[in-house]
Amino acid sequence: MEERNLTCISCPMGCPLTVVMNGAEVVNVSGNTCRRGEVYAKKEVTNPTRIVTSTVRVEGGSADMVSVKTKEDVPKGKIFECVEALKDVIVKAPVHIGDVIISDVAGTGVAIVATKNVE
Ligand code: SF4
Repeated sequence: MEERNLTCISCPMGCPLTVVMNGAEVVNVSGNTCRRGEVYAKKEVTNPTRIVTSTVRVEGGSADMVSVKTKEDVPKGKIFECVEALKDVIVKAPVHIGDVIISDVAGTGVAIVATKNVE
């Protein structure tokens, strides 16, 4: 049996979680105050994912940059590739919240969308 200690990031309370594993199988989760903590812990030890946030350059707009994020979680191991893929991206203004900047970032099948309006 292996024990892993995590901090739940599902809400600002940041409960300390202990996950007991038997190989790849989760045997027990403790320390969580609510069910979300258990779900987070199981996912984190088997298939950790994150939303990636960043910015990309804008051409001809009221601002030089626009904030963007992955539309859904991507595997944690792909975060660096996602950020790299955005480095040289330049979009033309106007850009609106929800506009797709990249339809499939770093082969994840997940889109990058704008999270701000730039006219
Ligand atoms: S276990 Fe529940 S209460 Fe604790 S940090 Fe996670 S979401 Fe928040």
